[in-house]
Amino acid sequence: MRKPLVAGNWKMNGTRESAAELLRALVQGLEDGATAEVLVCPPFVHLADAQRLLRESDIRLGAQSLCAEDAGAFTGEISGAMLRDYDCSYVIVGHSERRSLYHEDDALVARKFMAAIRNELVPVLCVGETLEERESGTTVEVIRRQLTAVLNAAGIDAFANAVIAYEPVWAIGTGRTASPDQAQEVHREIRDILAAENVTIADSIRLLYGGSVKASNAAELFAMPDIDGGLIGGASLEAEQFLSIVRAAE
Ligand code: PEP
Repeated sequence: MRKPLVAGNWKMNGTRESAAELLRALVQGLEDGATAEVLVCPPFVHLADAQRLLRESDIRLGAQSLCAEDAGAFTGEISGAMLRDYDCSYVIVGHSERRSLYHEDDALVARKFMAAIRNELVPVLCVGETLEERESGTTVEVIRRQLTAVLNAAGIDAFANAVIAYEPVWAIGTGRTASPDQAQEVHREIRDILAAENVTIADSIRLLYGGSVKASNAAELFAMPDIDGGLIGGASLEAEQFLSIVRAAE
């Protein structure tokens, strides 16, 4: 039985004050507990406040990226060990915005994935095709390429402590969501790719869907057999929306 996971990717949003307000509202909204595991990934500078505000709650804390290296002359970077210091247990790697805006290629994503594992952080590995790739019928090929790069570098056993998020690029921040069938089809493919290496890991790994998930469409997506929760961008910035999505995963 896979425990659903609902993760909020705040991206580069919020002030110190608004971040604290959002966290307080989530803590209050979830004080009676939740069946799903709940994760928030605020910007790095809000992690210290988040660590303090979430101390008494079950909400997990994660970061949006990390450096592939563990320490040294890497100006502007944040290491896995630094994230652990702030009680992060998860970190997003390979988000499409990092891939496209900051030129993170498959090889770098694989190194970041391994840095997460090395530092006992659960990587949330994002994969997904662009609209052009979907329309040219290469979705599965793209997902396979993105996954294989990490599988070859890290090995299948590393996926026992990982989460994968399928995020079609054309659905991120666009208001255009993949249909439950479209998402399920790719999730099944992901499980099949992993099953070729290790059936147990393929069956137990949590596969999140991400891309314009809202309170109004979450339940039908989460009802699909291979969708184990969501990675939520825009809707994670509003406490009530995010809490409704968490409830939809229950
Ligand atoms: C994301 O950035 O991971 C994401 C899914 O964003 P949104 O929910 O806003 O589409």
